Amino acid sequence: MAFPEAEARLFRDVWICMKCGARNRGYGGRPPEKCRRCKSKRLRRKKVEKA
Ligand SMILES: [Zn+2]
Repeated sequence: MAFPEAEARLFRDVWICMKCGARNRGYGGRPPEKCRRCKSKRLRRKKVEKA
């Protein structure tokens, strides 16, 4: 069972590639260097909406 806080942190650390839409895991709040799928450097942070 995951704590909501840990879960939110995991989701907040996800970056979406603007080119292919792949999800890339960030590193401690920092964006990944590039998309793991298409190598694009255009990444945006995934938006997290609170329920
Ligand atoms: Zn990509």
